[in-house]
Amino acid sequence: MQVKCTICSSCSNTYDPFLDLSLEIVRAESLSKALVRFTAVEALEGDNKYHCSNCQKKVRALKQFTIDKSPNILTIQFKRFSSTGNSGGKIDKKIEFGRTLDMKPYVSNPQVSCLYMMAVRIIEDLVDEVIDGTVRFGDDERLSISVQEAMPFLIHTLF
Ligand SMILES: [Zn+2]
Repeated sequence: MQVKCTICSSCSNTYDPFLDLSLEIVRAESLSKALVRFTAVEALEGDNKYHCSNCQKKVRALKQFTIDKSPNILTIQFKRFSSTGNSGGKIDKKIEFGRTLDMKPYVSNPQVSCLYMMAVRIIEDLVDEVIDGTVRFGDDERLSISVQEAMPFLIHTLF
């Protein structure tokens, strides 16, 4: 995570090792949009101002999460529980993703190749039913995917 002061441009970097990413899906229809939101620049302003140690005062700053080093096996979870949701907090929606995931736009060192092959694992107690080879979430048919598509949910590295 990087926080940049908008007055003196000094940056504060913090590195948190991670094994998995938890992505908000309330306003994202696809994995790539969820990643774009996750890595979007956020302004710290108003009551949320940042104390810059260089300026010695509270300033407007820009905060951004990027991935410094992508792990060999990247696990991504979708946050399906939302305190602001209207269906008892559980988010039922379709999230699109491809068979491969290129993490290049989301890492801070884009020279590193980080193409992942997608594999899907569905945590059983989140799946409402499996009928005729189709895994279904909730009552919405659009949330169904075939078992073959659902089988793999771990994301393996290709390179
Ligand atoms: Zn500053």
